[in-house]
Amino acid sequence: MIVVLKPQTTQDKIDHLVGWLNNQGIQIHLSVGSEYTIIGLIGNTDKVDVELLESLDMVMAVRRVGEPFKQCSRMFHPEDTVITVGNAKIGGGNFCMIAGPCSVESEAQILEVAQKVKASGAHILRGGAFKPRTSPYAFQGLRAEGLTLLSEAKRVTGLPLISEIMNVNHLPLFEDVDIIQVGARNMQNFDLLQELGHINKPILLKRGLANTLKELLMSAEYIMAGGNEQVILCERGIRTFETYTRNTLDLSAVPKLHEISHLPVVVDPSHATGEVKLVPSMALAAAACGADGLMVEVHNDPAHARCDGAQSLTPEQFNKLAAQVRAVLEVIRS
Ligand code: PEP
Ligand code: MN
Repeated sequence: MIVVLKPQTTQDKIDHLVGWLNNQGIQIHLSVGSEYTIIGLIGNTDKVDVELLESLDMVMAVRRVGEPFKQCSRMFHPEDTVITVGNAKIGGGNFCMIAGPCSVESEAQILEVAQKVKASGAHILRGGAFKPRTSPYAFQGLRAEGLTLLSEAKRVTGLPLISEIMNVNHLPLFEDVDIIQVGARNMQNFDLLQELGHINKPILLKRGLANTLKELLMSAEYIMAGGNEQVILCERGIRTFETYTRNTLDLSAVPKLHEISHLPVVVDPSHATGEVKLVPSMALAAAACGADGLMVEVHNDPAHARCDGAQSLTPEQFNKLAAQVRAVLEVIRS
């Protein structure tokens, strides 16, 4: 349920109403916008006297929220959430380019890619240290050493970092990582999501291989319910009957998620397609349909990459793509 307050309601009155609701065992999510203040009611609201609420002088409207997610809903928080890391902003009209290799492989590799993607205009450096591989015999990432190398690249370039966590016990290793990624395979690892709800760091949550948008939002809700409101949603393609592409990129997810939720939505065209030839066109389409950012895999030597070389752009290809993305953004913003 949400309660929309009339403009200019005093803080005293808001506190009084919030106290009254808290006394009934209701948790409150307050959203103070430029025009309206909205009180989101979380918990069992069956016993709340809606007519009494509506009759209050300060109340403009009371609405029941039909969806099971609350905190990520735009009804609870009408204005776009903007997430800031270093000099980068994601959401609310700020477009963010995240680029880097699938996995960190060596100091030389990550430093070269970091410097080159930065020169091309990337705002955030990606790099997997803990890799969720389908085969236990495949390269699993450099793990803690990979994170140390990412820190080195951050120190050299000033780029904020994003890296995937697989096990909550590894959280202390992620101190220098600015955005923690929850991969598609862990989208419904509820224990992990709950733990990440208690930290003060943005989380990029990837859509699961076979998950609906509602399930993605419910997973975001797990993080937000713990108090961490800094969630970025990521569309990275879903499993369909199609076999020519690694996954099927669901771009309609972008405007749909924006309609339902205030959280930023980023698109990963690399894992969505699995093929370097398809990455630029899907990246441009994502920018055109209103995504708040892109996450693109870039490798200095894709032919010898230890993971996902077939979908990794070279720094030169990324440089060209970044310029094209800026051109698309200019058109859609004009
Ligand atoms: C990744 O971004 O490194 C990754 C493994 O992606 P996904 O979880 O989308 O497969
Ligand atoms: Mn990858």
